[in-house]
Amino acid sequence: MDIYYDPLFLEHRHIPGHPESPSRLISIVKGLEESPLSFRFLKGSAASAEQLGTVHSHSYIDGIRQWRIRYLDQETPVYPSTYSISAMAAGCAISSTLHSIESGGCVMALIRPPGHHSGKDYGGGFCYFNNAAVAARNCGQSRCAIVDIDVHHGNGTSDIFYGERNVLYISTHQSGIYPGTGEAREIGSGEGEYFNLNLPLPSGSGDSTFDFAFDSVIMPVLRQYSPGVIIVSLGIDAHYLDPLASLTLSTGGYVKCISRLASLGPPLSIVLEGGYNPDALSDVVCGLVAGVCGEPYNTRFDVVHDRKGVGIGWVRSSLDIFSSHWRL
Ligand SMILES: [Zn+2]
Repeated sequence: MDIYYDPLFLEHRHIPGHPESPSRLISIVKGLEESPLSFRFLKGSAASAEQLGTVHSHSYIDGIRQWRIRYLDQETPVYPSTYSISAMAAGCAISSTLHSIESGGCVMALIRPPGHHSGKDYGGGFCYFNNAAVAARNCGQSRCAIVDIDVHHGNGTSDIFYGERNVLYISTHQSGIYPGTGEAREIGSGEGEYFNLNLPLPSGSGDSTFDFAFDSVIMPVLRQYSPGVIIVSLGIDAHYLDPLASLTLSTGGYVKCISRLASLGPPLSIVLEGGYNPDALSDVVCGLVAGVCGEPYNTRFDVVHDRKGVGIGWVRSSLDIFSSHWRL
């Protein structure tokens, strides 16, 4: 698999103990390099202000670039280096998406800082520029799907495309945690009605619940929408080892979700979002490279906590709303 990555991402550092740390990417890169898997790292180029401006307001972009904005929220400080590193993250997401379209295959952007909590003129939740949204707006496709499996709702991505149908946004996330948005009734507005699909899930939801959500909603909607590319906002914080939240996907559960998306047909661009247990990050990324490439690899964290589908009732409630528009 081709993977866009840049050592510059390791220069983005918060105070010690902050969960969004360089060790996240260090662990993934080490795991890949020590594995027998077939992959190569490619260098992207930073997104230009013009490319960022397809999503973000110029006053927000300049505020970060000129270091006039110093804090997006308490846990998301802006540093003098933030602009160049975040622009590189967004640029790698664009490159990954364009490369997946050219090759018709699956490409990954191993990037930080993450992006899905960043909207047109705001950031927060460790996010500055919305990498997946910038990729969607710069990939030249008339229909683009963003599937967000981070444990948190991607409020930024949702806001950006809320009134549009050119970009379909589907999010699975834990209900009742940061940022507090992402109810099933938030379906988009105007032209975008029914093109913003939220699948909030209760604590404990994992492999069986995700199986059901993919079978009953995500796969049929994507088949009907038939996008030119699928961008995955890959948060690995829905893993049972994650310290910040309490969904319970196993590594195998993640690999299955991504393999199913890869099987649909459209090119797949996987863009890293959150995930705060470095060992789980490495396990999931190596597992999904192996899964997509059809190579053997023994993943380590495969305890299935959710066998009965603790969130299936919640998925059914969302499905009832969506079925006014989609054949489900
Ligand atoms: Zn997250």
